[in-house]
Amino acid sequence: MSSATVLVRSPFDGQVVGEVAAHGPGDVDRAVSAAQAALDGCPLPPWERAEVLERAARLLADPGRSEALARTIAAESAKPLKTARVEARRAVTTFTAGVSAARTLTGDMVPIDAAEIGQGRLAFTLRLPIGVVGAITPFNFPLNLVAHKLAPAIAAGCPVVLKPASQTPLTALALADLLAEAGLPDGHLAVVTGSGATVGSALVEHPGVAYLTFTGSGEVGWDLRARAGRKKVALELGNNSPVVIEADGDWQRAARTISVAGFAHAGQSCVSTQRVYVHRSVAGPFCDLLGELVAALVVGDPMDEATDVSALITTGDRDRVKAWVDEAVAGGATVVTGGDVVDGLLRPTVLADVTPDMRVCRDEVFGPVVAVAAYDDIDEALRLADDTRYGLQAGIFTASLPVALAAARRLNFGTVLVNEVPTWRADQMPYGGVRSSGNTKEGPLWAAREMTDERLIVLGP
Ligand code: NAP
Repeated sequence: MSSATVLVRSPFDGQVVGEVAAHGPGDVDRAVSAAQAALDGCPLPPWERAEVLERAARLLADPGRSEALARTIAAESAKPLKTARVEARRAVTTFTAGVSAARTLTGDMVPIDAAEIGQGRLAFTLRLPIGVVGAITPFNFPLNLVAHKLAPAIAAGCPVVLKPASQTPLTALALADLLAEAGLPDGHLAVVTGSGATVGSALVEHPGVAYLTFTGSGEVGWDLRARAGRKKVALELGNNSPVVIEADGDWQRAARTISVAGFAHAGQSCVSTQRVYVHRSVAGPFCDLLGELVAALVVGDPMDEATDVSALITTGDRDRVKAWVDEAVAGGATVVTGGDVVDGLLRPTVLADVTPDMRVCRDEVFGPVVAVAAYDDIDEALRLADDTRYGLQAGIFTASLPVALAAARRLNFGTVLVNEVPTWRADQMPYGGVRSSGNTKEGPLWAAREMTDERLIVLGP
């Protein structure tokens, strides 16, 4: 293995928080070979996969362990400690769902005698591990999005070579240690740390990887699929999440929820609430309440217990988001709150009177910005919400069942949430986007099936 190392620094204050190996393509090659050898030499039977996952979930639920992981997340990603604690708790659910996946993963009976040719025969499928899984993960959920790769892969019996984001390798390495403690045998998981361009590309192009699972930006994800050769490729990508708020919807609850959902981890979530379409009759009081709640968010050090919003992942991202806000204001948007940089941190920002051509609407902001526009009729609102190249999650607040069902049919997203923000996710549910947002579903029960080959067995007469 490579002896070169790279420092990990806090995005908040640049302090060194750790040091990891700077791996290269040779390390990826060795890790893939070891994973293949593990699959060939000591495949895990389903009951043992379930037991490893169960022990991992128990270790993750340990309060001391959970707190240590939350602190590592906060240190390396600038996710505020209280938000990082939520992520650490969610990882328990993800591994617990992995246990269910391991215990229930089966093939299907095939009605082979439904046609005359099958008379007297019996047919069924077996679900077998697809092979070595290559997993590439983003910085914004350094624990739980890694869990969403590892738990289903273990459930499916696939060894994994994981490349975490360069900014957040420490949490992934801590999770790998925890899995070893939970009894995951050698060879079933290797973490390769290094840049996307070297280590990531080596994994993408390695012929020994059967299944590539990627969470991150569309720009990288779609390019990676084009370079992946014969691998099966699963992409979980970005969104510019819309929510429609009808006059009869609970707009006060919507404002309270959005004041968290648009700003957790400074808006750096793939389903951060970004575009809000609110009926004109309630737009004024809605904006006043949202502005008041967002102005009260505490901005500062991620390690501080009180902090709600901290630094963006790089100063370059802060400057990009600020430029998008300035451009929207120059184009006629109104600043309800925020919009400026104070002590190096972009203040949580609510913009009103936005138009669809502005980048804060058209693109994925991935920053602490919520853009609000008023509408007059529901058809217009649904058209605006759906007018995007993305398609991960969308929400609507309404008291009308017919309107909710119309939205469910009209909005071309992986999930449509009624009386809930598009940021809401439970880790055991199927989750994934359409259009530019991806091509698969995560959630261990779904992802584990994706990580298997289905072999048909036919028993002759
Ligand atoms: P990113 O820049 O696309 O990076 C994601 C991962 O890809 C990182 O590990 C990165 O490594 C690696 N990578 C970069 N270039 C690569 C290449 N040429 N070949 C192989 N790997 C490469 O994304 P990010 O900034 O970390 O995350 C933000 C994005 O992720 C947003 O668009 C967000 O919406 C999306 N996201 C989606 C979901 C979902 O479930 N749908 C969840 C969370 C985030 P380095 O770190 O070394 O560059």
